[in-house]
Amino acid sequence: MNTGPRHDHYLLTPGPLTVPEETRRAMLRDRNPGGAEHIGMSREIQDYLLSLCNGTQSHACVLLQGSATYGVEAGFKTLIPEGGRLLVVVNGFYGVRLREIAEAARVDTTVLQLPTVPLPNRADIEAALDADPAITHVVMCQAETGTGVLNPVEMLAEVGRERGVKVMIDAVASFGAVSTDAAALDLEAIFVSPNKCLESTPGVAIVIAKKSSLLEAKGRCPSAVLDLNHQWTFMQETGNWRWTPPTHVVSALAISCRRHAEEGGSGPRLDRYRRNWQVLVNGLRQKGFTTLLPDDVAIPIIATFNDPTDPAYSFKSFHAAMLRRGIEIFPGRLTSEGTFRVGVMGDLQEQDMHHILAQMCEALEEIGVTLPADGGAKSVETV
Ligand SMILES: *Cc1c(COP(=O)(O)O)cnc(C)c1O
Repeated sequence: MNTGPRHDHYLLTPGPLTVPEETRRAMLRDRNPGGAEHIGMSREIQDYLLSLCNGTQSHACVLLQGSATYGVEAGFKTLIPEGGRLLVVVNGFYGVRLREIAEAARVDTTVLQLPTVPLPNRADIEAALDADPAITHVVMCQAETGTGVLNPVEMLAEVGRERGVKVMIDAVASFGAVSTDAAALDLEAIFVSPNKCLESTPGVAIVIAKKSSLLEAKGRCPSAVLDLNHQWTFMQETGNWRWTPPTHVVSALAISCRRHAEEGGSGPRLDRYRRNWQVLVNGLRQKGFTTLLPDDVAIPIIATFNDPTDPAYSFKSFHAAMLRRGIEIFPGRLTSEGTFRVGVMGDLQEQDMHHILAQMCEALEEIGVTLPADGGAKSVETV
């Protein structure tokens, strides 16, 4: 098997990421936003994403210009009525961001601040709801990319159903690799990105919303461009987006959906990521690295490593040495300082991970970092 690089540039951030060549090529044609091809692709994306979360009957898939965060803000402004109150479950950087979006959108917000681990549990959520009976909605990240934990959205949905509280999920980083049943969990909204586990390019926000709630929201959103009800009904009626759509991004996403289906869907995709993750994590552990998280709470789409203790190490010089090798890694978030992160999603296979691992070791040597288990002679037990 060929062990060399399959790409001349690897973008290992937790999205945007290394996009397959076929997907990139889909963007080379200029399409008419009102033409049958673009309209057909928009419809194909909506149908496919709804099928992935069993939402075809109960839910609507709204496409919106912008990054995933635009979809989150649009969801809050469109779906939470006057007098509503949002509980934001925070156990990492992106939970903090959900709170900031809600506050900026002038949504009445209650924050449930939790540590990264142990994962949010039923008692935490129930206590927060008991303490504030005005809460009508709750939102939580599924994959908290700031650290890489997989939060229990099924539990949240169950508590929400019991209490009559509507549940929104930031599945921005997990959709396409983790199956979530929108109908069975009766989710109010799922926020989705094209440029994470769907492996496409940035530029469109995706909100999968409960159809009845979306229809009830007519005229509610205090924004012209973020009104999901209007965007969706207009597209249903005319096939068109309300304003100029990112046609190139849409064509890439349509191809990405086909590739996702060809791979076998979310399960096989996560299996590939897990194999990538294992090559990387096992390889770096043999060199003495430790991961921030215990394996049983980690979603294998990114790996977060504690910085080496050698004083010669700085993320800046490591990043630069990697970049010279055509590989871009990512720093830890403010909520988890002293770490660096490596995304393993995108057009990556085990072969790529072996290449990346070898380059990491070379780069560390180049910047003068001695690793505890250098040479890989001894495998280090992690706690
Ligand atoms: C990437 C990410 C976002 C933000 O997406 P943008 O495309 O930057 O708007 C939100 N939530 C999570 C969990 C993410 O990983």
